Amino acid sequence: MNKQIAELLFPHIEKTEADYEAMYPARNLPEGAKVTRLGPSPTGFIHLGNLYGAFVDERLAHQSNGIFYLRIEDTDDKRFVPGAVDTIINSLGYFGINFDEGVTKDGDVGTYGDYTQSHRKEIYQCFVKKLVEEGKAYPCFLTEDEITDIRTKQEAAKLTPGIYGEFALSRNLSYYEIKEKIDAGMPYVVRLASGGDCSQREDIVRKVRVKDAIRGVLEMPENFHDVVILKATGIPTYHFAHVVDDHLMRTTHVVRGAEWLPSLPTHIELFEKLGWESPIYCHTAQLMKLGEDGNKRKLSKRHDPELSLDFYRKQGFHPTAVREYLLTILNSNFEEWRMENPDAPIDDFPFTTEKMSNSGALFDINKLMDISKDVLLQISANELYDFLKDWSAEFRPEIMNIFDDKAYMLQILDLGRNDQKPRKDLIYAEQIIEFISYFFDDMFKVEDAVPAEAEADQRAILNAYLEGYDHKDDQSQWFDKIRAIATELGYAAKPKDFKKHPEEYKGHVGHVSTVIRIALMGRSQSPDLWAIQQIMGEEMTKKRIANFASRI
Ligand code: GLU
Repeated sequence: MNKQIAELLFPHIEKTEADYEAMYPARNLPEGAKVTRLGPSPTGFIHLGNLYGAFVDERLAHQSNGIFYLRIEDTDDKRFVPGAVDTIINSLGYFGINFDEGVTKDGDVGTYGDYTQSHRKEIYQCFVKKLVEEGKAYPCFLTEDEITDIRTKQEAAKLTPGIYGEFALSRNLSYYEIKEKIDAGMPYVVRLASGGDCSQREDIVRKVRVKDAIRGVLEMPENFHDVVILKATGIPTYHFAHVVDDHLMRTTHVVRGAEWLPSLPTHIELFEKLGWESPIYCHTAQLMKLGEDGNKRKLSKRHDPELSLDFYRKQGFHPTAVREYLLTILNSNFEEWRMENPDAPIDDFPFTTEKMSNSGALFDINKLMDISKDVLLQISANELYDFLKDWSAEFRPEIMNIFDDKAYMLQILDLGRNDQKPRKDLIYAEQIIEFISYFFDDMFKVEDAVPAEAEADQRAILNAYLEGYDHKDDQSQWFDKIRAIATELGYAAKPKDFKKHPEEYKGHVGHVSTVIRIALMGRSQSPDLWAIQQIMGEEMTKKRIANFASRI
């Protein structure tokens, strides 16, 4: 009879399990090679959690000479946003995450496709048909109202809500009853006929044991719900698509967020019912951040712009910095490894799922910035130039002229970076452009006020400075001149003299040089003044000083 029901529901399905097993044979890969996949929904929003998971997938596959592929999970068609696939590929590609197989911008690559779930309807239905034939799944005609009634009763009786046991009213329908309903045009879904114990008696909770590569052995109550595997539209639910796809595409490791843990027993039952071995699960930790109240909380799309991957591109974080940072939250021993191997390429790090945190992974943007400072120090000025130019072309097209004089820009970017104790001023593109803006007349603006101690003397300071200015002076000759100006005008030549006897001076040499700094750069803090002048050149230096003096 089950065979008849299956035929009634899926007369158009002719292929069998054996056909698909032959079409998608076991992969021919070296021993130990891992096959991983990313299965994003094409919602257009790609976030740090996706990148975090993708990173794990990518490392597991590529460290083992395996395969990492992209599958588009669009069974929930309400969420489809056009262009989303390109966004996924571009956003991840920017961070160095590249796929070997699956959906690409030019169609599918690989022999385990189609890699878009909405194109695989027939495949899923073949396996639903098989389960119906074997009495492991059945059509369910319950209406929404009936399901609501069931739920109300269950709540009153303090039972778990859901369709199972005595509530699974369609489970034992005969072929004729089913045929009658179908002929009458009644919509239906297909449900799994769960073998789980649904008595809900505490003394007989049956457990499933699953080894998770991140979390160790998990023991969870078995599934007893007759979950929906095929929706009324003929499209599978996530549960069913996951099981069929990861089996046929020969995925060895399923990396996904902890939000899927509660449905794991359902997936285990589905693998069992289909007679397949389940893959190794790797449930990653939720990304958390410290809230204003000092408590950890989940990153949220609405409150935390840094959750979106676009955020890092728009701000212009270098992909190497983001990768480096993500590894510090992914593997607890990464920072130690980095200290021991400061110059090694990041892919040399032996990534393992065992060293991953299974409670919340704490995301801290300040830490990312600190790491970025170190990472940018390792990047040559030439490469930084290209990076900033590309970023500006996309996000600040109006400032592209600052890249015209490459030699000038290279000197600016290298300022203070090759010293014994290098300066770590550069963090991300937007901040870098702002940081170096005073080197360009178009962007130059006076941001800070001259120190009160030297306010009355600013014109005298700048005039004396201009008068004595010789671009060929070395650093100590140059500073001697500033000291002389300071002394002449009643300022201490050394800050410590001023501290000792403040009553004898108007201020000290630092106040005097700050006036010059502000005239030249518009700010009271900056890298070495003399070095900046050497880069700006004599003409720009003198013009800035004269301009400022004339406006006092
Ligand atoms: N399509 C699922 C999601 O977007 C993927 C989960 C999985 O990797 O299995 O959350």
